[in-house]
Amino acid sequence: MTELQQHLEFLKQYSSEYELSDITELAVLALGLAGETGEAIEIIKKLIRDNNAIVVNELITQSLIKELGDILAYVLLIGNYFDIAPAEIIKTNRQKLEKRLNNGTIRGSGNDR
Ligand SMILES: [Mg+2]
Repeated sequence: MTELQQHLEFLKQYSSEYELSDITELAVLALGLAGETGEAIEIIKKLIRDNNAIVVNELITQSLIKELGDILAYVLLIGNYFDIAPAEIIKTNRQKLEKRLNNGTIRGSGNDR
């Protein structure tokens, strides 16, 4: 079992405490991902705004680690909701990026390039 799969098993215990209906669970997961993404972006925004540059200290690094962990948790739980294993997410993302690299389409826009 991969480290991500082990983490997902831990997260499932935590999230099952709420006993939500299916649609409410999915809504909470999606809103949670958006919220945690906002928290991470807020740290980066303040870093740029207050320093006019990227000056990272230990406190900022630790804050970012916590928020990135929150994002990762929601990504894993949303995947789990749809029975998508962490390994499948990683494999598919890697294949997509390798295809773009091989096709010379890393730059550009559109999901299917
Ligand atoms: Mg957070």
